[in-house]
Amino acid sequence: MALWRYWTVPGAVGPCTVWEMRIRNMAYEIVKHDQEMMRKVNKANILNLIREKKPVSRSELARITGMSPTSVGRIVTELIELGLIKETELAFSRVVGRKALLLDTEPNSVYVVCAQVDEDISRVGIVDFDGTIICERTCICDAHSMGWDEFTDKVCGEIEKIIAEADFDKSRIIGLGIGVPGLVDTANGIVLSSPQLRWENIRLAKYMEGRLGYKTTIDNVIKAKALAENTYGSDRDAKRVVFVHFGTGVGSALITDNRIYRGVTNSAGEIGHTTINPNGRLCDCGRRGCLQTYITERALLQEARTIRNISGIDEIFEAALKGEGWAVSILDNLHTYISIAICNIICMYNPNTVIIGGKMVKQPPDIESIIKAKVDRQIWAQFQGSYEIKCSSLGEHAGLLGMAVLLVNKYIDIEL
Ligand SMILES: [Zn+2]
Repeated sequence: MALWRYWTVPGAVGPCTVWEMRIRNMAYEIVKHDQEMMRKVNKANILNLIREKKPVSRSELARITGMSPTSVGRIVTELIELGLIKETELAFSRVVGRKALLLDTEPNSVYVVCAQVDEDISRVGIVDFDGTIICERTCICDAHSMGWDEFTDKVCGEIEKIIAEADFDKSRIIGLGIGVPGLVDTANGIVLSSPQLRWENIRLAKYMEGRLGYKTTIDNVIKAKALAENTYGSDRDAKRVVFVHFGTGVGSALITDNRIYRGVTNSAGEIGHTTINPNGRLCDCGRRGCLQTYITERALLQEARTIRNISGIDEIFEAALKGEGWAVSILDNLHTYISIAICNIICMYNPNTVIIGGKMVKQPPDIESIIKAKVDRQIWAQFQGSYEIKCSSLGEHAGLLGMAVLLVNKYIDIEL
């Protein structure tokens, strides 16, 4: 029996073996993928530069990016035809030595209706093309006492109200984006598992589309927040950024070169369910000793209520600010676990920046330096000086903004 079979593949010079064919096909796929990726990256770069430098000329864009004037012109024409950017006044351009038309964004060109849902407070808003939230509402929806359909109907009601109340061109809505805590099958619009919401296998996108009539995209809310921080936040230039959220749950998301790292099943970054103590506290995921059982609001309240009868975590923050020992001790413990989480993330991803957000790191005012000092003490010496730790600059708005970025990128076909 012949060990080698001979094939002729398109573009190949003469016959080749099975392995040669595989390698050639692989090379062809890589080139095709790279060209497609380059096209998206170039378009995204031009758009981001217009957003940052506006008003700006085509020649200035070509000078900054190093792209040819023809390539810049082609992308600009496409964006003008989509109505996303516009030509404004003539201004003298040093690059071309005469007056040139400048380019600016058109904030009212498209709108995204966004929602970020959580186990206690959900948020809905309308975001324009420039990333401005033109209208926003919060609603108290208790996921633990409501069924998923009752919960979702309440959020839909808030979305209908905000669309009706806000003054904007409704025909320019390009879709609905919903950020959800937990594991999300974005391609099929399914919430696979959300321990915080206590949802399993919910076809959320299809339900929302049927209820509200807008094309719906759902994603993990932490990934959306990370993308927003990387697009609109204080650390836009960093190549490798990890956003870590400490709220009703704990999660993280890595962004490399403006791209979300998703993992095989879009589940990368679920650091809250990494095990700290195999015999520890019971977690919402059904296992014991997960990191988030030591960091979340619920964990803190449980611990505090063994000492005092308090109604919310703000009482712990206030008591700690007054120097009351029990509260200082609880917060010190919390900050130690937060620092352990960040040290682990730095060792795993070696990022430029770790951005921290969520209600557990809102207080005290010097939280950034407290956490940084603890991380610097705990981290392996080899990593010291390689990272920055910053508090989120977008706060509670990050989820809405991130979903808007995802939908706009999809609309323009620059989703990486
Ligand atoms: Zn868990």
